Amino acid sequence: MNIDWQNLGFGYMKTDYRFVSNFKDGKWDEGKMTTDDKVVINESAGVLQYAQTCFEGMKAYRTIDNRVVCFRPDLNASRMADSCRRLEMPVFPENRFIEAVKQVVEKNIDYVPPYGSGASLYLRPYMFGSNPVLGVKPATEFEFRIFASPVGPYFKGGAKPIILRVPDFDRAAPLGTGHVKAGLNYAMSLHAIVDAHNQGYNENMYLDSATRTKIEETGGANIIFVTKDNKVVTPKSPTILPSITRRSLMVVAEKYLGLKTEEREIHIEELKDFKECALCGTAAVLSPVGKVADHGKVIEFPSGMEKPGEITQKLYDTLTGIQMGKIEPPEGWIYEIKPSAVSV
Ligand SMILES: *Cc1c(COP(=O)(O)O)cnc(C)c1O
Repeated sequence: MNIDWQNLGFGYMKTDYRFVSNFKDGKWDEGKMTTDDKVVINESAGVLQYAQTCFEGMKAYRTIDNRVVCFRPDLNASRMADSCRRLEMPVFPENRFIEAVKQVVEKNIDYVPPYGSGASLYLRPYMFGSNPVLGVKPATEFEFRIFASPVGPYFKGGAKPIILRVPDFDRAAPLGTGHVKAGLNYAMSLHAIVDAHNQGYNENMYLDSATRTKIEETGGANIIFVTKDNKVVTPKSPTILPSITRRSLMVVAEKYLGLKTEEREIHIEELKDFKECALCGTAAVLSPVGKVADHGKVIEFPSGMEKPGEITQKLYDTLTGIQMGKIEPPEGWIYEIKPSAVSV
């Protein structure tokens, strides 16, 4: 494989095989692996008109002992099932989801970057309404696909602290779709992120849209904070997307680092009381936050703008150590695709 693993960015690269299954007449077909990267659908397909689509994001890694593994794919499968139910789409059975992930990684095994490169094979399961819809109603035919793309570390040259701002936009309505991985959540966040970048900020830190007083998450990552007495705290809200990385980090904090953890409502006024802050998600694992700008007021975390805070760094090292096979994982976290893959 002629890929410069060290210099991979976080972007799409076409690989050899992807999985496709279609839902028609009330049932999923048996599905297949294909080399065809084109999706052909009717001009009035449900996804094109009314954005009936959801997705997942996960990674396959090469471990220190050259196994190829996935991290907690069962949680991606069940979260996608939740997204489908909320969006009136048929669930792709969770056991078949995991089996399809395995096939896609196996068929593209040479695209799994070597251990130590910092790169990984990103997997993108997604589903969309595929038959023509014009009156507003759910589609009746759907396509489920998983493609793979090798990606470099989300932040090149290590994790430099970033700057967030509290935007004048909302991400999720109180009883809306904030808790599911719907494409529509991202479509409406694009203007806010472009605007944030234009103003010199890296990401938006959204508040709850009902009261605009409580911290929720960014457009595509959950948030954790560290208190001055080393407690790891994360916002609790029914409109936050339940990040698998965040849920795993809370376990790592408690079980591996012996820290207290708390999932609770966090008021914007509390920002100044924390000593560390970081974003978490599959793409970057953890990205340290140095500052938050809130309408002319700037909150600087004591961890500063030079490097991640001490607890953030420990959490990062432990979780990535588990993923890379350097640290004994909790039961069921590591799903082995290939015991000892052919080296690249
Ligand atoms: C996908 C996503 C996350 C991160 O979830 P992980 O399972 O950790 O990758 C966080 N917030 C939003 C809005 C997301 O869509």
